[in-house]
Amino acid sequence: MTVALHPSIDNGVKQGSGSFAGGTLACKCKDHQVKVGIKGDVAHNHACGCTKCWKPQGAIFSVVAVVPRQNVTVLENGDKLQVVDPSAVIQRHACKACGTHMYGRIENKNHPFYGLDFIHAELFEEPGSAAPQFAAFVSSVIESGVKPEQMGEIRSRFKELGLEPYDCLSPALMDAIATHVAKSKAA
Ligand SMILES: [Zn+2]
Ligand SMILES: [Zn+2]
Repeated sequence: MTVALHPSIDNGVKQGSGSFAGGTLACKCKDHQVKVGIKGDVAHNHACGCTKCWKPQGAIFSVVAVVPRQNVTVLENGDKLQVVDPSAVIQRHACKACGTHMYGRIENKNHPFYGLDFIHAELFEEPGSAAPQFAAFVSSVIESGVKPEQMGEIRSRFKELGLEPYDCLSPALMDAIATHVAKSKAA
């Protein structure tokens, strides 16, 4: 039996259409769903093993991507949203009723990822958004109860799916963070 990572990738990674124009994210409520409109495609989509990202029931990993914050609009039932942890760097706006995280926003203007909101593309009502490209914070799943002995199997499964497993972010994103830090030190 293969290890289940996340329902949207367990049967293979579905590639995006390459021309996704945006869509609507819907929470998991049966009625009065929170709906959030997203303009354009997502970027840096990836599986994440951290303990903070929202995951669907039974999943070990979340799948999370970014979009420019100005491309995110709450369309319906915004009164059901609340920030999960106001002290966290990423303010995760979640549905109070079903717990689904609709978008995560960074309010600290000095943060390397300021200007980008974190969203879960699996909540799109429309198909075709950009597929996950790698797996981040893989070792962190041990903090949510995964046995260290399972890590070999988990990392090989990611490789089999074509998603390189990293224990922090991907090299491109780590470079972007370091560049931001270097620039702010030089300033
Ligand atoms: Zn909900
Ligand atoms: Zn995460």
